Amino acid sequence: MLYSGILKKMSTRLNATEVNYYLELENDLIHLNQLIHKKIRLELQGYQCLNCDSDETIFAQGFCKKCFFESPKAGEWIMKPELSKAHLGEEDRDLEFEKRMQLQPHIVYLSNTGTLKVGITRKKQLPTRWIDQGAHQAMAILETPNRYLAGVAEVALKKHISDRTNWRTMLTTSENKEDLGEVFNSLQGYIPEEVKKCLISEMNNVPIDFPYATKIEKVLKSYSLKKDTNIEGVLIGIKGQYLIFKDSAVMNIRNHEGFRVGLNVKTLSI
Ligand SMILES: [Zn+2]
Repeated sequence: MLYSGILKKMSTRLNATEVNYYLELENDLIHLNQLIHKKIRLELQGYQCLNCDSDETIFAQGFCKKCFFESPKAGEWIMKPELSKAHLGEEDRDLEFEKRMQLQPHIVYLSNTGTLKVGITRKKQLPTRWIDQGAHQAMAILETPNRYLAGVAEVALKKHISDRTNWRTMLTTSENKEDLGEVFNSLQGYIPEEVKKCLISEMNNVPIDFPYATKIEKVLKSYSLKKDTNIEGVLIGIKGQYLIFKDSAVMNIRNHEGFRVGLNVKTLSI
């Protein structure tokens, strides 16, 4: 089987608690769970900016350098929600776009990605956001009417709990269950006054199961198609946006958005 196309982050679907991963390449939708235990080969064929279609080298987040610094889809408020200004009617790069994205319900959550963290996301992005970061447990704690207020809550909470995912830990630790309700109780006092009315009344722990049964002990290599123009290995699992190979190498698909690749699946199983 041979596929080719522009990489975008894997799309996901939860079947009860189980994650199904899909890769869309041109006209094919590949169900990646079915490739586990198969040998796959990815090769770099070029680039295509997700915003302007230019074939220049991708700079970051699927964008060429120009789009990364100019497109409203790559504004700084995306990574730093507390810089959001659409609720004040102030433009960063494109006010209409920013209003559409920022002035909608956002969720502040706690998640367990091997370590505990706080994060925020647009409400529509759940549970996708949790799956993409490789959280095997998550719990929404606040629902705010815009991105700015979620950012305010996150800034206050991240003084007491991390706001980062350690991807090596996420890929190599066993999935300990934590009582996220208890974690919330310990943080409750740090929630800023202005968002207290946004607390979710019934907080539910959401368990997520990834297709990743045999854990690797250590990440020996993290592939980058810019350097390793050919990647080959036996896929043993998928977690977050990572493909995990038998030889303890991994590849973050999301970091390769905008890369044009060929994907070859060898039919021999191991
Ligand atoms: Zn571009």
